[in-house]
Amino acid sequence: MLRRNRGTRNREFSVIPDEPLKRVVVCLLAVCCIAANASAQELPVRINPRRAYGYLEEICRIGPRVSGTEGMLLQQQLIIEHFRKLGGDVRAQRFNVAHPQTGNPVRMTNLVVSWNPTARDRVLLCCHYDTRPFPDRDRFRPKGKFIGANDGASGVALFMEMAHHMKSIQPRYGVDFIFFDGEELVYQQGDKYFLGSEYFSKWYRDTPPKNFRYVCGVLVDMIADKQLAIYVEKNSLNMAPNVTRSVWATAKRMGVKEFVGEPKYEVRDDHLALNEIAKIPTCDIIDFDYPYWHTTRDTASACSAASLSKVGRVLLQWLTEVPIKPPASGS
Ligand code: ZN
Repeated sequence: MLRRNRGTRNREFSVIPDEPLKRVVVCLLAVCCIAANASAQELPVRINPRRAYGYLEEICRIGPRVSGTEGMLLQQQLIIEHFRKLGGDVRAQRFNVAHPQTGNPVRMTNLVVSWNPTARDRVLLCCHYDTRPFPDRDRFRPKGKFIGANDGASGVALFMEMAHHMKSIQPRYGVDFIFFDGEELVYQQGDKYFLGSEYFSKWYRDTPPKNFRYVCGVLVDMIADKQLAIYVEKNSLNMAPNVTRSVWATAKRMGVKEFVGEPKYEVRDDHLALNEIAKIPTCDIIDFDYPYWHTTRDTASACSAASLSKVGRVLLQWLTEVPIKPPASGS
């Protein structure tokens, strides 16, 4: 994926106002206390596969969710209301990019949902939530409607389900769910990928937050495939070996065989910016063997409740362990 630089500006986090999507630009972190209820070590929680899949369907019903479009705004509203209701602290990081075709400004929004927001050492779980403008790998309808059930909605649905359990598990660190915008505002070869994760990573590098730091991160992408097989991703193994191994070790111990403990693909994804720019060791959980990738057939019917559930179980368990130490020097 080739990249061209496009202008980004205005660094800020905004506290989301009570009425979703009314924009108030205020700097920095809203801190509200969330009591993390104690619970047992070995996951007494039960991911609800049908509910998780229901979220995926709900997101898909919005239609395409391309950065800067009405569909994306509706999705943001859904996300903000959902996580607020479940006690997450929701913030937005907004910035503009030039539209790759017209050059007009496109409003971009990374959303951050924090659990135990006062914890200094934090882990981030992230996904992209925008959808590609067109299903350009579709042989018959490359200009058709792209729903992005697996490539777009699956990560969001997973986090929506995990949110039900965040207060009943005891994560080792504070946890942030981050929804990156602009992963693929891509119309043609040469258009830039990873806009949201790059913006976020540069913000983290250039203005390190005073009251928290990220210990490590996990990216999920395309994790709802019916034929789930998540091989170790090569860039993850190179750049974040400990994080990568620890996630697959957790899956192995839990008997979740869909996490295959050998490398297969080398994938360029949002985790690159987190590793290379923000220096947050981050692995990518991605099932790259998805026949409907970037086609009109990437719909809810190609996805599976059981797959979402398996990834959710592993991640909830992993959050309670995270055998990674904070960086030696504080930021
Ligand atoms: Zn994609």
